[in-house]
Amino acid sequence: MNVLNETKFIMDKYDIHPNKNLGQNFLIDENSLQTIAKDVTKTDTIIEIGPGLGTLTSIMLEKAKEVIAIELDKKMCKILEDRFKLYNNFKLINDDVLKVNIANLANKPKVVANLPYYITTSIITKLIKEDIADITVLIQKEVADRISAKPGEKNAGAITYFVNYYADTEILGTVSKECFIPSPKVESEILRIKKLPEKRVKVENETLFFELIRENFTKRRKNILNSISGVIEKEKLEKILEKLNINPNSRGENLSLQDFANIANEANKE
Ligand code: SAM
Repeated sequence: MNVLNETKFIMDKYDIHPNKNLGQNFLIDENSLQTIAKDVTKTDTIIEIGPGLGTLTSIMLEKAKEVIAIELDKKMCKILEDRFKLYNNFKLINDDVLKVNIANLANKPKVVANLPYYITTSIITKLIKEDIADITVLIQKEVADRISAKPGEKNAGAITYFVNYYADTEILGTVSKECFIPSPKVESEILRIKKLPEKRVKVENETLFFELIRENFTKRRKNILNSISGVIEKEKLEKILEKLNINPNSRGENLSLQDFANIANEANKE
């Protein structure tokens, strides 16, 4: 049975009406599924977030050592339990992914998932903070493009700088709306995030560094002097910018990761 028929069959059998609030858009395109799972190997413990009907799960169960799936919807969990009861390399956690400590679930797990789009950024931020080294996710194109932009590029945002500090990113493919049941409103992309052996720049005080970046992007229309003067006192900031040879009238979105690191490190000196 192909993926489309299999999906329809399971939805009929269990009387499933996809829940929009939970971001339930089921992937029915064989090529996209294979691309998402392409680097999964027999030594991998995979954490899958939002397995849904189990389409991607079934591919990964054949390729991985173990799949630990986290699904919030009880109805989906019933399907998954029935479908994979004969697999001894399948574990299911019925919970909200944002409440689960993922790093503690296994030794060096990888995350491979078609994410619920309404919480994409929260999930990716959480995974990086938990030090997950290898993440492959299908997410909305706009967010994937923002995350994989380079600091200083037009569509960069605070999340770009955050991810770039810890990791390399790569877009593995695009997935059109028609590849899902039901079709989402937006196009999608498969994004891979691989942690760097060392953080990209040296930062003395990460709390301050991230606060500067966050503050700058919430006030992105202001120049750098005005956007972050709520974090570093204006007179001190003027001196720092002068010392670093950064034009106080430039927009923060044009600054590099190293620029933000330099500003934070200077401000941290006194
Ligand atoms: N993996 C399936 C596929 O590719 O067809 C379904 C992906 S669907 C985009 C997202 C899944 O995430 C749904 O099954 C939904 O119930 C689940 N989900 C939504 N919010 C969640 C949360 N907070 N924690 C865990 N799973 C969640």
